[in-house]
Amino acid sequence: MKSFFISATNTNVGKTYTTLMLMEFFAKKGYKVGAFKPIETGVLDRVEDGEKLLNKAKELNPDFQDITIEDIVPITFTLPAAPFVAKKDQKIDYKKIDFAFEKLKKKCDVLFIEGAGGLMVPIDERYFMADFAKYFDAITLLVSHGKLGCINDTHLSLNFLKQKKLPHLWCVNLKDSDKNSFLKITFPYYRYYFQNPMILPMDIETLYTKMINFIQH
Ligand code: GDP
Ligand code: MG
Repeated sequence: MKSFFISATNTNVGKTYTTLMLMEFFAKKGYKVGAFKPIETGVLDRVEDGEKLLNKAKELNPDFQDITIEDIVPITFTLPAAPFVAKKDQKIDYKKIDFAFEKLKKKCDVLFIEGAGGLMVPIDERYFMADFAKYFDAITLLVSHGKLGCINDTHLSLNFLKQKKLPHLWCVNLKDSDKNSFLKITFPYYRYYFQNPMILPMDIETLYTKMINFIQH
């Protein structure tokens, strides 16, 4: 089993959206896929991300039929904030996270682990979200956005991943509404600096190939 840690330059950039897209793509290629979101905040009556991930995993992988929402998202908090803040004076129960991870990893070839927010969202007094990449021995996929400001956001997150020596890939999740401005404002720079940045949904096949290369080496 191999896992990918799906992070982003910020919240609401498209981690869940990209994860669902990748789950479908990997499943079409014959992989048994699974999903995991160790911590979700802003959970009142519904575990929004968790439910999307669970439904997709059940649709694509028969081994996930007996998996519950508590397995996919073992830790939830009501406040829509960084876990450090949302947990108030509670402790993060890492045993619960470990238990869920062990259960899920037996049921898939590829597990997509979605973080909360961006890389430096604090979990508690000791850890940031990016620490989950190492914790689960996962390759990070940084999802960036296509709005004004994305060049700066992308560089900062990529520099952080390099500095921490975390193996990673990155892509742009380009929403239709951002397409025109992205092509005019951002793409000329990305082409100059990164040559061939991967832009979803167009470059999903290239991203898939790079992800597979990563897990086979
Ligand atoms: P996350 O917080 O990083 O996981 O972001 P989400 O994946 O939940 O995306 C935030 C919102 O934007 C959700 O309502 C998504 O359905 C929507 N969204 C994200 N990416 C796209 C996209 O490429 N196209 C469209 N139409 N909507 C998107
Ligand atoms: Mg999400």
